[in-house]
Amino acid sequence: MTAPTQSGITQATETPPSLQCSVASGWEVLTTLIACLHDAVLLVDAAQLRVVAANEAAALLFALPVQSLCGRNVVELSSTPQDLCFWIDASQGLANSTCSHTMIQRCNGETRPVARRVSRLVLEPPIEPADPLQSNAERAVYVVAFHDQTAERRVEEMLETRVAELRATLESTADGILVTDPAGHVNCCNERFAALWGITGELLARRDDQALRDRMLRSVEDPTAYTERLAAIESDATLHASDIFKLKSGKVLERVTRPQSSRGRPIGRVFSFRDITESLEACQRIEQLSHTDALTGLANRRQLRTRFEIALAMAQRENAPFAVLFLDLDRFKHINDSLGHEFGDRVLIEVSQRVQTCLRQVDTLARLGGDEFVMLAHQVDAAGAEITARRVLEAMSGPFVLDGLSFTVTCSIGISLYPSNGSNMDELLRHADKAMYSVKNGGRAGYRFHQPHKDVDLRSRMRIDHAMRQALANGRFRLNYQPQIDMLSGEVVGAEALLRWSRSELSHVLPAELISVAEESGYIVILGEWVVNQAVQQAAQWHARGMSLIIAVNVSALQFQRSNFVESVALALRQSGLPPHLLELELTESILVQDVDEALSRLGALAQLGVRMSIDDFGTGYSSLGYLKRFPIKQLKIDRSFVEGLPDNDSDAGIVKAIINLGRALHLQVIAEGVETEAQRTFLKQAGCNSYQGFLYSAALEAEELEQRMTPKQATVNGLRLIRR
Ligand code: C2E
Ligand code: MG
Ligand code: MG
Repeated sequence: MTAPTQSGITQATETPPSLQCSVASGWEVLTTLIACLHDAVLLVDAAQLRVVAANEAAALLFALPVQSLCGRNVVELSSTPQDLCFWIDASQGLANSTCSHTMIQRCNGETRPVARRVSRLVLEPPIEPADPLQSNAERAVYVVAFHDQTAERRVEEMLETRVAELRATLESTADGILVTDPAGHVNCCNERFAALWGITGELLARRDDQALRDRMLRSVEDPTAYTERLAAIESDATLHASDIFKLKSGKVLERVTRPQSSRGRPIGRVFSFRDITESLEACQRIEQLSHTDALTGLANRRQLRTRFEIALAMAQRENAPFAVLFLDLDRFKHINDSLGHEFGDRVLIEVSQRVQTCLRQVDTLARLGGDEFVMLAHQVDAAGAEITARRVLEAMSGPFVLDGLSFTVTCSIGISLYPSNGSNMDELLRHADKAMYSVKNGGRAGYRFHQPHKDVDLRSRMRIDHAMRQALANGRFRLNYQPQIDMLSGEVVGAEALLRWSRSELSHVLPAELISVAEESGYIVILGEWVVNQAVQQAAQWHARGMSLIIAVNVSALQFQRSNFVESVALALRQSGLPPHLLELELTESILVQDVDEALSRLGALAQLGVRMSIDDFGTGYSSLGYLKRFPIKQLKIDRSFVEGLPDNDSDAGIVKAIINLGRALHLQVIAEGVETEAQRTFLKQAGCNSYQGFLYSAALEAEELEQRMTPKQATVNGLRLIRR
């Protein structure tokens, strides 16, 4: 079992461990030696298994003074069955040494983890008197050294906990994580990574990097781009990168990669993969919503602005015009209020669909909100814009049928043109919007171009409004009368009453401007009533003096729509005594078509009174033949704009002839306004126009001037005049 050595200590023949020491200084050297050690050491009598020496470190480890340790049976200090077995074997000479991790029990009952090494040592004489082994025949001891592992265990446990936490963190991240070493070999990955890429547990367990890479490559939609990108990433150890690619499964992944380093040295690379399919779709949806109107799917104001910029750039490059049409539904509030917003929404959708059919694919239809729409028509001049506006009005004219309810929706359209009416979106929209409002004021259901002179700024409109109210109160309004002449006889058969005011500081304000301010503020109702009374009284006076002229009075939409309008006309006639057939009301087309049933009943009541009705500015509005036929009107008044080009302008000539023929077919009289030249008059007469008015004969005159202009034959006092109409 043992082999004697020269040193006097016999090493146990079994290995490990081996220990050699000089025994020159005997037992004391041995005990001094163990006293110098950091680790706890016990010397155990091999025969008795009793502790014969212990160092301070052992006393500390076992929480027992050295004296208390000495003399104890080593078995008492064991705390595991394996230890017990070892010492039993040792006592029978069956075990010499061991090296193990075990637990010791301290005297306070606490256990501690230790690394323990037991070596059998055989000592040779001479024996000193202090030698506790004197009696032992064999003189063998076990050197039992303990290394207290409590601190290491604690660190290990802490590290284990930390690793587990890191693993849990890795697993609980929403991203798929893949960590590679500098050579590109996979260090680790999480389950999310496997799930995103559809990698099986079996493939992961194989730890076959190439198979994993192949699987990933097969999953991407564009393997070539993916490979190139990955090569670029892997060729630069310091690269921070992120990119997006699509898998064949339809998933869109965002890949972010960062180099990984430890203590300043690169140790690999971390790839994180995030499924952005849904957020991408949401982004696209948000992007789409931010450009479109949620209800109708049309462009919204934001997209309109973008399209405007394109239109502007194109128009400037190609020196081409474009048109902006501002559309607002008439009385849409009524639909919303009476039938509910959900119904209103469906109307808006149908309107958007109808209007869309009137535009070319290149044009833009946008909804600004509510019932406001804007059309952007590319490479379109005034004529083109007019065609578009008419097309839209036509498309809108058909009945709407929703939930079994049949109804009509009309709209008002204002038009502005680039470049003549503005150089940017805001200016063009503002002008189209104003033009649209003037359609509304003129009775709705029509279109109108922006008219620069009408664009009087707000302050001056307020000034006009104020001055207008003062003027009526102070009697500074008066009427002038423009004679209307029968084509065949050349006699004055009527006169149009036109509003004038005597106020020097506002003398530059044209009647049309004044009327538009009054229409805007609603004051036209009062003013219009004054005009009707004034004109009727004047006509009654003339009539009483034998000058039976038909007096034509312009009526604004607001005035006509008042529920007491018919009554107020009847009252004026009664009070003045003017025979009703000598009063003619000039209405515009738009007044008549906006609420056809209402207009029909009002016109019927007026016709019942015996009053004549004529359609002013005919041709500029939008009236359908069907309506014209049903209205009890007597006369069409050809707008001045068509007369202007006569006789040379072919299209004016064509339109004028068409209106005259239309009048004839519908048994209506036709009068032309704005006749300034003999050539115009001749053309009109040959075309069959019944009468005319214009500067050729006379501008609007003061009442007395008109009387003087009448031929003596016409001005017969008390004589009856035959009116040829
Ligand atoms: P309107 O009813 O079309 O009246 C005809 C306009 O043409 C008048 O302008 C008249 O002076 C003008 N005019 C007549 N002959 C000629 C011509 O040969 N050449 C040219 N260049 N112009 C001619 P005015 O008086 O400036 O009135 C403009 C508009 O104001 C009227 O157009 C009418 O819409 C409105 N208006 C005038 N008075 C009243 C009124 O009492 N009530 C309402 N509601 N509107 C009125
Ligand atoms: Mg008129
Ligand atoms: Mg007119």
